[in-house]
Amino acid sequence: MIHNISLPPGEFGGPYIDQLFMGTLHPGAHPYFAGLAGLRVSAHFLIRRDGELVQYVPVEKRAWHAGESSWNGRARCNDFSIGVELEGADDVPFAEPQYETLARLTRELEARFGRLDIAGHSDIAPGRKSDPGPWFDWARYRAAVT
Ligand SMILES: [Zn+2]
Repeated sequence: MIHNISLPPGEFGGPYIDQLFMGTLHPGAHPYFAGLAGLRVSAHFLIRRDGELVQYVPVEKRAWHAGESSWNGRARCNDFSIGVELEGADDVPFAEPQYETLARLTRELEARFGRLDIAGHSDIAPGRKSDPGPWFDWARYRAAVT
C-alpha cells in the first residue's frame, strides 16, 4: 500500500513523521498537529526525499496506515497489507531516489512474499484518501518492478 505523508503538510525533512509513527509527536509543536493527537498511526516503511528507507514496524506485524478501507472485497486492509509512506504531498513530484528505493524494496518484498498486489491509499479508501496523489508515476514504478 503506497502513501504519501509530510508533516506539517507540504514540508519535508523534519523529525515529525518519525515522531508520529513512534507515538511521540507533541500536539503543541505545530497547529496542524493538534488534530493528530491521540491518533494511532504507523507504517511499516518510510522513504525519505533522499531515498533513505526507514522501517518502523516488522512486516509480519500490523501497522496502522490504511484506516477504514477495502481492497478486492476485503475490508480492514491493515490486517493484510504492508504500508509504505513516501515523504511527499499530493501537489509535488516525488524525488528520483524515492522511486529507486521503492522499486528495490518492492523487489525484496516480492522475493520474500511472492507477487504483491500493489495499490495506493486512494484505491483502498476512495473519496476519503487521495494519496499517493497525481504526481505518483505508477507507470514508471510498475516498469521498474516488472
Ligand atoms: Zn495514506
